[in-house]
Amino acid sequence: MDHTKINLLVKLQHLDNQIESIVSLQKGLPEEIEALEEDLLFTTRQIETRRKIADDQLKQRSHLHETINECKNKILNFKEKQTLARNNKEYDALSKQIEYEEKEIAQAELQLQDIVHAIQRAQEIQKKGQQLIIENRYDEITEEMMPDDVLHQQLEDLSKQVAQKKEELEGIVIETAEDVDSLKIKVTEQRKHIKVEAVRLLDKYDHLRSGTLRNAVVRLNRNACSGCNTRVPTNRHTMIVQGGFYLCESCGRIVVHERLFEEAES
Ligand SMILES: [Zn+2]
Repeated sequence: MDHTKINLLVKLQHLDNQIESIVSLQKGLPEEIEALEEDLLFTTRQIETRRKIADDQLKQRSHLHETINECKNKILNFKEKQTLARNNKEYDALSKQIEYEEKEIAQAELQLQDIVHAIQRAQEIQKKGQQLIIENRYDEITEEMMPDDVLHQQLEDLSKQVAQKKEELEGIVIETAEDVDSLKIKVTEQRKHIKVEAVRLLDKYDHLRSGTLRNAVVRLNRNACSGCNTRVPTNRHTMIVQGGFYLCESCGRIVVHERLFEEAES
């Protein structure tokens, strides 16, 4: 068996491990930021939805008020015409038109009332939410119960937290950027090399690492795969000691002798 191929792969794993350990300095900050940003987006949407409803209500109200004013003007106009009516037929026709406009006004007023009621209802629901907050009964608060001011405070807090965490992460990224960049170049070179020498091993490596698993190549530790702690059959030890590799039957990882990692480090 040609053992130099596995050495190339161990070297790649060693480089990827180094990048991994630098990235772990970020202490889960990227995930934390992602979660905060999701909350932020959710809160922003809630606020936007409420703003849109309020805007629509305002527009509708002013439109209805306009309609009422127009109708009133028309009525005035018709009434004036009535004083000049030359006969009953003309007078009655105008009366009908006045009646029609009055109905329009009544309808618009009803719609205005509906809007006012909707606003009052929303306020009452928020008051309920406020009360639940005071009583610490957060589980019972629904989306629409969340008071406007609490929502805005939440938005402000989340924005601050995201900015703070991002700054923290940026600091770490800047500090380690140079190391990561040079390691990434080495990884690319190593991969090119393996692609020529042992493309199937590289495919196996990439396949293993395609999920959440990062350590595709692991040390033999106390006669077991150090990836999953499953014992390696005794008859495979010699080959591993000689610098070969073993595919763990349990987790599929590539198990090699510790020495190979030491060699990769040097
Ligand atoms: Zn294993």
